[in-house]
Amino acid sequence: MWVDVTFLGSYPAGYTYHVPMPGTKAVEVGMLVVAPLRKRRLTGIVTGLHPVLPVALQGKGIRPILSVPLKEPVIPPEILGFYEWCAAYYRIPLGGILKSALPLPKGLLKGETVQLTPEGQKALEHLVGGEGKSFGPAVTIGTATALNLSLFLGRREHWETLLRWTDEEWVRWDYPGFQRYFTSGILCYRVPSEEIPRLGPRGKEIAAFVAERGVVAASEVRDRFPRSSAVVKRLLEQKALEVIRREEDLTLPVRFRDASASPPSLSHEQRVVLASIRRALSEPEPSPILLHGVTGSGKTELYIQAIQEAVRQGRSALILVPEIVLTPQLISRIRKRLAVPVVSWHSRLTGREKWRQWLLLHRVAPVVVIGARSSVFVPVRDLGLIVVDEEHDPSFKQEEGLLYHARDVAVVRSRHQAIPLILGSATPSIESYHNVKTGKFRYSVMTRRPSGQPLPSVEVIDARKEGIFPSSTTQGLMLSRPLREALREAFDAGSQSLLFLNRRGYARVVTCARCGQPLTCPRCSVSLILHQPTRHLRCHYCGYNRSFPERCEACGGPLLQMGGGTQRLEEEIRGIIPGARVARLDRDTAQKQAAYEAILARLQRAEIDILIGTQMIVKGHDYPGIVLMGVVMADHSLRFPDFRASERTFQLLTQASGRCGRGTQPGRVMVQTFSPDHYSIQYASRHDFIGFYDEEIRYRRELGYPPFTRLAVLRLSGMDQEKVVSRAERLAAEANRFIRKRRLSVSLLGPAPALLSRLKNRYRWHILLKGIRSRDLHSVVEGVLASSLAERDRKVRIQVEYDPVQLV
Ligand code: ADP
Ligand code: ZN
Repeated sequence: MWVDVTFLGSYPAGYTYHVPMPGTKAVEVGMLVVAPLRKRRLTGIVTGLHPVLPVALQGKGIRPILSVPLKEPVIPPEILGFYEWCAAYYRIPLGGILKSALPLPKGLLKGETVQLTPEGQKALEHLVGGEGKSFGPAVTIGTATALNLSLFLGRREHWETLLRWTDEEWVRWDYPGFQRYFTSGILCYRVPSEEIPRLGPRGKEIAAFVAERGVVAASEVRDRFPRSSAVVKRLLEQKALEVIRREEDLTLPVRFRDASASPPSLSHEQRVVLASIRRALSEPEPSPILLHGVTGSGKTELYIQAIQEAVRQGRSALILVPEIVLTPQLISRIRKRLAVPVVSWHSRLTGREKWRQWLLLHRVAPVVVIGARSSVFVPVRDLGLIVVDEEHDPSFKQEEGLLYHARDVAVVRSRHQAIPLILGSATPSIESYHNVKTGKFRYSVMTRRPSGQPLPSVEVIDARKEGIFPSSTTQGLMLSRPLREALREAFDAGSQSLLFLNRRGYARVVTCARCGQPLTCPRCSVSLILHQPTRHLRCHYCGYNRSFPERCEACGGPLLQMGGGTQRLEEEIRGIIPGARVARLDRDTAQKQAAYEAILARLQRAEIDILIGTQMIVKGHDYPGIVLMGVVMADHSLRFPDFRASERTFQLLTQASGRCGRGTQPGRVMVQTFSPDHYSIQYASRHDFIGFYDEEIRYRRELGYPPFTRLAVLRLSGMDQEKVVSRAERLAAEANRFIRKRRLSVSLLGPAPALLSRLKNRYRWHILLKGIRSRDLHSVVEGVLASSLAERDRKVRIQVEYDPVQLV
C-alpha cells in the first residue's frame, strides 16, 4: 500500500510513501502520519491511497511512513476535496490550509523513540557485523532517545538503514506526544465538600455556580465570570474548588446550560424565509440563499432557528462573522437557545485554546462553530449548514498569508458538501446579488423589523453649505449646526447617540504653514497622524512613532494641524455639550477585546450618552437606547480610489443607520458630506438597495469590473525602487506577450505604483489582470511566473492575489 501525504505547513501536496504491510489496513484518508522528508520527521495528512505504486514513481526509492499515531481520521475525508479546490484556485499550498484547519500543538514529535520489534531482534541476530553492529547501541538496547537518534541520523547511511528497517518492520517509531494531546481530558472544577471556607463575594458566586452544577468545565467558568482567573486561583488554593480532568466532560458545558429561552413568534416575513431554509435543509443539492433583510429584521433569529433545525437532524452548523469582537454576543445569544456545544474559532486564540476547540469539535457532534474568516476551513464532521453573517463585509477577505475570500470559500464548501448556505446582509454585495439575478443563488427578503419600528429617517447634510470641516484648515468645527442641535436634543431627551468617523487620532495631517511640507513617515508614503494628549505623531501603517516638533524641520515655519480624527471630535463634543458622558471606541481605546466589551457594556447600561467610533461601532450591534446616528464624514470611503468605493459607502451608511431606532423610539440618521448628490448617498438615504444595485451594476459592466470579470493582481515590492520598477515592466511585457500568443481574453493594467506606494521602506508596484474566466488568469500568472522564476532576484518580492478586495 502507498499513500500520498501532505505535510502541515507551506508544503506542496502529495509526497508518496510506502505503508508497511501490517499497517496497511489501518491507514485511511484523513489520518495523521509521521513521515520522513529528507532528514526530518514531519506530521502530515493522508490525502490519497494507492493499492499499487503509480508507474511514474516506480524505481524512485519510495520511503516508508514512520508512524500512524492515531487510529481515526482527524480530517473528515469528505472535506479534502474542498480543501484541494481552494488550494488550486487561490494557488496556496494545501498544507497551509490543512495547518490552519488542524492547529496541532507544538511538541507532538517530542519524545520520539525507535524500538526493535521482535522480528527485528530476530533478524539482527542473523546480521553479522556491518550494519547490525554499527547500529547496535541505540536500537538494540531497546529505545533510542531523540538525542541518540539525531546522532545516528547525522550519517546518511544510518538514516537509510533505519528507513529500510522501518519498511521491514524491524523497528517501530513511537510518538507518545500524540496520545497525550489527543486523549487528555478537559479541565473541570468541582466543589470538594459542603463546608466552604470564607470567601469573597465573587469567590462565593463562582463556588455556588460550580456547586449547583456538580462539575463545570474551566472554560465555562471563564465564560461566565470574565477576568476571574485570580479569584479562581485563590479558590483552588483555599480548596474551595478542586480540579478534575475528565474525558467525557467535553460535553459538560452543554449539559448545564440554560438553553431555556423561548423563541419569539416569528413575523410573517420570517416564517416565509424559515420555510425556504427548511426546504433547503432537506434538498440533496441546495443553492445558496441570499438573505437580504434590513437591519433589525430578525436575520440572526432565523440563523438560530435554522441551526436548531440542523441540530435536530444531528448535524453541525458553522457561522462566519466578520469580526472576532462580534462573536461573544452571538455565542451568548445562541447559548440561551440551544443545548449544543458552541465552539469559537478565530486567529486570536492561543495555540492551546485553538487545540481545545478543535478537540471538542473532533469528539462531539453536533456542534455549532462560530468564527471569523479562518473558520471557513474548520474540519467539522457532519456539517449541515453554513451561515455567513454580513456577507458583504470586506473583512472576510484575508489580506495576509493565505489570500482567500471566506464568503466565496463558503460558497464552494457548501457546494462540495451539498449543504445549505445562508448569506445574510442588509446590504448584499454586488457580486452576491448579481448571483441571484443570474440564478446561482436563491433570494429571500425581509423588508420590515418585527418590532414594527420603521427604518430611521436619513437626513443628508451638505457640508459645503454648512461651512464645517477642518480638512484644509485648523479652523471650524467638525459638526454642522443641524447635527449639533440633534445631538443636544437627544441628550436633553435622555437618549443615546452614536457618531461614526472612520478616522482615528487627533489631526490627520500636520503640515508647515510656510513651505507646505507635510510630516510623513520615513518608511511609508503616508502622513503621520497626531495623537493626543501625548502629542506624538504615529504612522498607522508601520507604527513609527515620534514626538511632535514645535516647528517645521525643513524651514522652521509654524505647523498646522489639518483633518480631524476621533480624538479631535471627542474634544469638540465635550465643548458643545459639557454635561454629556462621551466615550470613544476605536483601535486606540479598544485594542483588547476586554476594553471593547467594557465600552459596549457601558453603552448598554446607558452610562454613555454619546459614543464616537470608527467602523467598530457600525457593525452588528443591537442597542435599543440609540436614537441618533451621526455620520461625520461620508466622503472618506467615497473618495477612496477603488472601484468598490461607492458600494463600500452605501454599505457603511446603511449599516450605520441600522444601529439606531431599534428600540421603541424611531431613529434618526444624519449624514454629513461634500457630495450630497452622489448616488450611493442618495440611495442609502432612501434605504434603496435595489436602486443602488441597478445603477452600480451598469457602471461595473461598462468598465469591465467584477462581477463581469475576475481580477488577479501581481504585487511587487522591494527596497530598491529601480529594481522593482524594471522587474514590474519586464513582467508586464512578458504577460502581454503571453496573452497575445495564446489569444486569451485577459486585459492588463499597469504596472503602476500601488496607492500605498511605499510601505515599511519597501516600494510597491502592481499589475492588474482582468479576465472573463479565472482559468485564463491562472494560466497567464503561471506562465509569466514560471518564466520569471529563472530570474532569481531575491531583492524583489512578487505576490499573486486572486479576487483582490483592496487594490492598495
Ligand atoms: P438582524 O440580525 O437582522 O439585525 P436580529 O435577529 O438581531 O436582526 O433582530 C433584531 C431584534 O429583533 C433583536 O432584538 C431580536 O431579538 C428581535 N426579534 C427578532 N425576531 C423577532 C420576532 N419574531 N419577534 C420579536 N422580536 C424579534
Ligand atoms: Zn510608516
